[in-house]
Order: sequence, then structure tokens, then C-alpha cells
Amino acid sequence: MCPPNDTPGGPDLLAPDRLERIAGHVRGILTELGLDLGDPNLAETDRRVARMYAEMFHGLQEGSEPAITVFPNEERYSAMVMEKRIPFYSMCAHHLVPFYGHAHLAYIPNDSILGLSKFSRILEFYAKRPQLQERLTEQVANYLETRLHPQGVMVVIEARHLCVEMRGVKKAGAVTVTSAIRGIFHQRPVREEFLDLLRRTEP
Ligand SMILES: [Zn+2]
Repeated sequence: MCPPNDTPGGPDLLAPDRLERIAGHVRGILTELGLDLGDPNLAETDRRVARMYAEMFHGLQEGSEPAITVFPNEERYSAMVMEKRIPFYSMCAHHLVPFYGHAHLAYIPNDSILGLSKFSRILEFYAKRPQLQERLTEQVANYLETRLHPQGVMVVIEARHLCVEMRGVKKAGAVTVTSAIRGIFHQRPVREEFLDLLRRTEP
């Protein structure tokens, strides 16, 4: 079953009875692994994991979508706005282990601009759920496209996946890169400007 695609009308992850049921399932896994739940290090693990999941999967929580204020583009700014190297942590929907890295988001406005702090809030909202890097990339691009109606959007995400690094072929340090392009970013010179801004060193 796929995790919800966009803005779920999700469960209340912090409801005590739900946390208790999640803890019960974690306890079941630990028991099936043959672990001694009397070990002091495991005694509270079921509840700790339940609370941790509520935090890591906060994007599923009802009402967790960030309130995004969009401002009128009064200066008629028409060049690229980029927020780069925004860190994020997410959980792979296939294996429930982390993938993490950086996102680079850019758009060219029409009539609306976005408060700069909102980029990371949008990214976090979609990252905090069982997720695929490809879908995360598309969801962030779609969100910016539908809220801002810009001339174009580009999202690039670079991430390391622990399900790749810790198991199977064990390619430690491999980086997966995904991108999503909307509107004017389909034109090569615009994409080149994006890459040029991306390569620039920190101020
Ligand atoms: Zn995985």
C-alpha cells in the first residue's frame, strides 16, 4: 500500500491509544526477534519507538501542512529565486530506514513570491512520512507550482539511502540525485543558470 500522496487528512499520531497500539506492534517485532524485553535497555523501547515515529512521520499528522503565506510580487521580480543546500531527513517507504541529504529549490515568479523560510517547511512536511526520493522531489515541485503559479520551478534532491548502504550491495557513500522541472525550467539556458547558481561557493 502506498503512503498518502499529498495532504492526508491523517490520523492523530499523538493520541495516547494510537501510540500505545504502535508500541504494541513494536513489542511484537522485538518478541519475534527473540529479545528479552526484561533487559533494561529494551524495557521502554516499544514506547520510545512509537513516540519517535510520531515525530519522524509528523507530515502524516492531521493539520501538519505548513501555513504558507504568499506575497504579491510588487517589485515584479522576474529572475530566479533559489534556496540551496536545505538539509532534510526522511524514511524510505520500502524499508523504513532513513534517507537524508540536501534539497535545492528554485522558482521564477509571476505574480506571487514565497517567504524564504517556507522552502524548508514545505520540504520537511513532505519528508516527514514514509517516502520515496522521487516522490518527495515531485511533491515539493507540485506544491510550489500550485501555490505560486510561477513561470517555472526546479527541485534537485541529493540523498544517501541507508537501505542501500547498510545492506545488500553495500555502496557506502553513494548519492542518489533526483530532479523535477516545471515550466520555463524546461529551457536549457534556465537550467544552466540554476546549475551555475548551485555551483557558486558560499558567501
Ligand atoms: Zn529503501
